[in-house]
Amino acid sequence: TRKHKVTVIGSGNWGSTISKIVSENTKEHPELFEEEVQMWVYEEEVEYEGKTQKLTSIINTHHENIKYLPNIKLPTNLIANPSLEDAVSNSSILIFNLPHQFIHRICGQLKGKILPFARGISCIKGVNVTDEGVSLFSEWIGEGLGIYCGALSGANIASEIAAEKWSETTIAYDPPPMDNSRNPSRNATPRSGTPSRNSPRASADELSITPLAENQHRDVRGRISKTKLTPVPQEYPPLDHDTFKTLFHRPYFHVRMVSDVAGVSLGGALKNIVALAAGFVDGRGWGDNAKAAIMRVGLLEMVKFGHEFFGETISTGTFTEESAGVADLITSCMGGRNFRCAKKAVEKGISVQEVEQTELNGQKLQGTSTAAEVNSFLKQRGLEQDYPLFTAVHNILEGRNTVDDIPDLVART
Ligand code: NAD
Ligand code: 13P
Repeated sequence: TRKHKVTVIGSGNWGSTISKIVSENTKEHPELFEEEVQMWVYEEEVEYEGKTQKLTSIINTHHENIKYLPNIKLPTNLIANPSLEDAVSNSSILIFNLPHQFIHRICGQLKGKILPFARGISCIKGVNVTDEGVSLFSEWIGEGLGIYCGALSGANIASEIAAEKWSETTIAYDPPPMDNSRNPSRNATPRSGTPSRNSPRASADELSITPLAENQHRDVRGRISKTKLTPVPQEYPPLDHDTFKTLFHRPYFHVRMVSDVAGVSLGGALKNIVALAAGFVDGRGWGDNAKAAIMRVGLLEMVKFGHEFFGETISTGTFTEESAGVADLITSCMGGRNFRCAKKAVEKGISVQEVEQTELNGQKLQGTSTAAEVNSFLKQRGLEQDYPLFTAVHNILEGRNTVDDIPDLVART
């Protein structure tokens, strides 16, 4: 039998941490995985020991990502690779872990370069907004590359996990039955729900009558996906919940496997907007009650957004019961980068972008662009008033509102 080769696409703060985790597990499970893990690195020159050196050669020599995850030893079976094409070559498991603003260009470069039967896991926290509507990166990557892609998200501040402090995470993976029939899957009988305003309602035919062909599966909206999947060859271990749990679970990183890809992806994306609001009120000196109010209202808007635009498949429980929902919201509003930068911006009277530039040493905030992207999507549909907190955050970032306006703006929620 063959083994799965694993590639992590991205090497930032979280990308390097996830690479550490999966490399530890590929080494412990030679029956499933090739030991060596590839990590694609956006190459850059950095100062190290008095010399300018390439980041990849520092990682491969010293086993430390000194720029994005300093003071953490990386496993020696993790190989930093500046060539995207080479890093993904012959890999059957692709883990997408980079700031969401860069994924479009990267996926463009990957087309035709990956194994047709590869499967993906997106660790990206953001949503993809275009004129046609909003989509999830798991969805968008899968359709763009012609593969199935699940999502990993949770209360996961990278530096704590890299230091092996205990945390939980949620992985949503809802593979087509051809990959494995043991997993719980909504592919067979999707739940019906309220029609999505974002996309035409899936027809009754698609939702419940038409049986799925061999290479078909349902997308996160319950429709038959346009992507024709290539089955994972028999000689490989199945790519199912058990295999993915083995790849990601560590004593300090506890994985729960679920099927709600939309809920898991949206939780990670939308909480970044709420974390900015938490930073704003904390920076204003309003204390914990105000922050708790922000979390309450934010969670309601996250659930509402999920049901309104991904209603066919989403489960409220993902937001209220899983690490990818309420737990990520809480940790992000207490110590995430979006929270910290927003707080400092208010304290110093400067923009969040300015704090990001001066404080994060190249790390990227996801909340500022997500707030703008979600706002443009809502505005186009005349729905800004239905999401007062999301709208307020965008307007504060744009200078049209101040933090003092927040209580009145969210008063009806
Ligand atoms: P990061 O914030 O550390 O960003 C830096 C990364 O971006 C570096 O690897 C850098 O090389 C890369 N980069 C810079 N310019 C680039 C370009 N033009 N093209 C491609 N790459 C470029 O990244 P991260 O923390 O690894 O975040 C990745 C994703 O994981 C995000 O969606 C984030 O929300 C999510 N996430 C982060 C954390 C965390 O604590 N850091 C935790 C959970 C999830
Ligand atoms: P920040 O990007 O705001 O640091 O959030 C990290 C995170 O996603 C924690 O789960």
